[in-house]
Amino acid sequence: MEIISTVDGVRRKMEALRCAGKRIAFVPTMGALHDGHLSLCRRARKEADIVIMSIYVNPTQFGPNEDLDRYPRDREGDERKAGSAGVDILFYPDAALMYEADHRSWVSVDELGSILCGQSRPGHFRGVTTIVAKLLNIVRPHDLIMGQKDAQQAAIIQRMIRDLNFDTRLVLAPIIRETDGLAMSSRNVYLRGEDRHRALILHQSLTLAERLIERGETDPNTILDQARSLIQNQEGVTLDYLEIRSYPGLQPVTNTEGRVLIAGAILLADVRLIDNIIIEQGSKQ
Ligand code: AMP
Repeated sequence: MEIISTVDGVRRKMEALRCAGKRIAFVPTMGALHDGHLSLCRRARKEADIVIMSIYVNPTQFGPNEDLDRYPRDREGDERKAGSAGVDILFYPDAALMYEADHRSWVSVDELGSILCGQSRPGHFRGVTTIVAKLLNIVRPHDLIMGQKDAQQAAIIQRMIRDLNFDTRLVLAPIIRETDGLAMSSRNVYLRGEDRHRALILHQSLTLAERLIERGETDPNTILDQARSLIQNQEGVTLDYLEIRSYPGLQPVTNTEGRVLIAGAILLADVRLIDNIIIEQGSKQ
């Protein structure tokens, strides 16, 4: 695995690979790698000849009171895991290289960035779309591999790719979970003891909603009332949101027919956790 830390270095490398006719798949991450990230590398390997991963904790997607400073970082472990997951090129940019001091340009996708997670994280998706646009311009991959774990993020990036004519194809990979159902996340390392157990309530409420739909319930309000109250009755957990929307359009729905996203976020012990299920005509994704 080749590790590159400069923008010019990655550009030169990718240009040479493209000229040699290689298909390139790109996996952007913020590091503290877990099996969810590594599943994206395996998917990338299936799609392309060359797998490039970036590891960059992007400051512009964190709000002033969020966990940028304490976001988990593990450079040594990440290099080892990326290498054994078959990554060919690891782009580990020097933090100072990604944004000039007088950076003033932003990419944002109207409306979709201010709902669901965007409501309690203003500016978050503008930071995400800006860094992903920058990375796509640097790497110019044929395939961009992202996880359904961040379903809203993927829907927004998909819209950005279409609206701004990025020459890349988004591939969405399924959520990898711990054996008890908790969606893998770099932030799970913050969860200790009782809180680790309490965190399961989010996935349980999503699967309750899914079961109700499978049993024929189609009214989102009826479904959400039950699923939300499961979380609201869990001690030590605060519900941020639990919603059902169309996917990938992210529009409100009046029934659960078609392809819908059931997505939620909770707060516990200063940790914000997200999870979701996508259901299409009764089939889970
Ligand atoms: P992050 O490092 O959290 O920014 O995530 C980088 C990529 O990994 C994003 O496309 C995420 O959706 C994806 N990802 C994170 N957790 C998981 C998971 N549990 N299963 C699948 N993909 C994931």
